[in-house]
Amino acid sequence: MLYMTSAFTQAKPAGSNVEPLSWLEAAGYIKPISPGCIALLPFGTLVLERLTEKLREFAREKGFWELALPLLQRREIWEESGRHERYRHFLAETVLADGHNYVINPTQEEAVLDLMRRICIRPARLPQRLFQIGERIRNEIRPAHGLLRGRSFILADFYAIAADAASMNREADMLEATLLHLMDWCGLSVERGIYATTPLGVPACSFWIKTCTRQCDVHRCTICGRSYRFTRSVSESCPGCGGPLEDISAAEIGDVVRTGTVLAERMGVATGTPRAFVQVAVAGIGLSRLIQFLAERYSDADGLAWPFHLAPLHVHVIPTVDRSVEAQELGERLSAEGFRVYAENRNQSFGRIFVDADMIGLPVRVVLGRRTMTGTFDVRLRRSREEFTAGYSQLCERMRQLSKKEVL
Ligand SMILES: [Zn+2]
Repeated sequence: MLYMTSAFTQAKPAGSNVEPLSWLEAAGYIKPISPGCIALLPFGTLVLERLTEKLREFAREKGFWELALPLLQRREIWEESGRHERYRHFLAETVLADGHNYVINPTQEEAVLDLMRRICIRPARLPQRLFQIGERIRNEIRPAHGLLRGRSFILADFYAIAADAASMNREADMLEATLLHLMDWCGLSVERGIYATTPLGVPACSFWIKTCTRQCDVHRCTICGRSYRFTRSVSESCPGCGGPLEDISAAEIGDVVRTGTVLAERMGVATGTPRAFVQVAVAGIGLSRLIQFLAERYSDADGLAWPFHLAPLHVHVIPTVDRSVEAQELGERLSAEGFRVYAENRNQSFGRIFVDADMIGLPVRVVLGRRTMTGTFDVRLRRSREEFTAGYSQLCERMRQLSKKEVL
């Protein structure tokens, strides 16, 4: 299947220091709609698809089952957990025709625990590993930093429900490993920071990345290298070794919280004889914000520059008018080989098309120009900027090499 030209590419941003967010918007990946609400455009949803495909693969390997829970959660379950009072200002709520109050999915601990008590769970069936990927809504007072702090965003939530604390801790360790595995596959250097304080008073850690956009407070010890994520108070020295702390420009990509029995006790979710409250470990990974981290990691002065495994599409085929039939055939052959092809069919100057191609940043650009003969193509690799002329089999071979080298 060929992907024909998208309508969403905008003019190249002016200036030399273009922010990742501006590249995403100019190249047709995203479009801000209202404060904290950003639409993912076709290229953006294709990057999200790459991420969710891989995450689902990792999750299933680890024995997680995917759920699709309703966006509407009864307000009562939030009152039961005690978190309605605490987070009232942060929740988006609505009243439906039945006169009941609903919270619009900000997170799903309550919904998952409610589900578990509706399904009579036996201890022999624990641990139970569940996840969901989808939209979250939060009444963020000050949405900022593009995809990093929004009111509507896409999150992957993982819930491991265990029978005892030791099992819950093993599950949490596995969640941390899964999160790091995904970041590693993305080629992002992520560090694990300890939450200095958490609202539930339970152990939690934050996975953060050094970025140009400071989104959260992270301090790292200059002696032992341990890092801490602060929500309120900032301490002067490392709680571990007492060494001095340095302030880091960081943004959080996910977290793992060992909630234990705290919420299960409040909601009365227990199993076995005698009855024991279930233990829950939770992980969240911000998938829409991950796209912004990737844009920062994989961009240069001309635009985005995707590695093969993360690219929305693999190859951008650009023909002159008299070679458009040949370009169509080339695109179909490459698609049949398993490559995802973006076929240029706009009536634009080559100059404009090349500027756009660099901004969009697909790994391989193939031009069918006037100067090369039928059956040969001018190839350019976006990241290395290497240029060469190749026939069909050479082109395929190089693309196969590229796909192997860049899959981590
Ligand atoms: Zn230290």
